[in-house]
Amino acid sequence: MANENGIILRDAIDLLAKENDPIWIKLVQLAENRGIRVLLANKIAKNTTGLYIRTKDGRKIIALKDSLVSNERRETMAHELAHAVLHSGKKDYNICLYFEGGKYWECLENEANNFARRLLRFLDRRY
Ligand SMILES: [Zn+2]
Repeated sequence: MANENGIILRDAIDLLAKENDPIWIKLVQLAENRGIRVLLANKIAKNTTGLYIRTKDGRKIIALKDSLVSNERRETMAHELAHAVLHSGKKDYNICLYFEGGKYWECLENEANNFARRLLRFLDRRY
């Protein structure tokens, strides 16, 4: 269903039966098991492949561009999942909280990239 901005959102979990990428399937399940809804969107913010959003009422959402190819999709998903796990609340597990000024965001991105790399390596060995 498209909203007034022409944005079409689909739940990734509903589409898993048609998927044949075991790592993608695992990543979506990992997110859903943590209460994070994974949405595929035909349009997303400019120059962005994925977003992690925590709504004011506490819902957690990862939105990914639905046109990504397999590798991009895995990497973006793992990266956003890292934000969800590491940077989601007041009791964050990240060391970036001790950073000040402009380096804070850079630190968060590095931390998410490192987590994503390790997660994908782990899943690659297992599935
Ligand atoms: Zn990021």
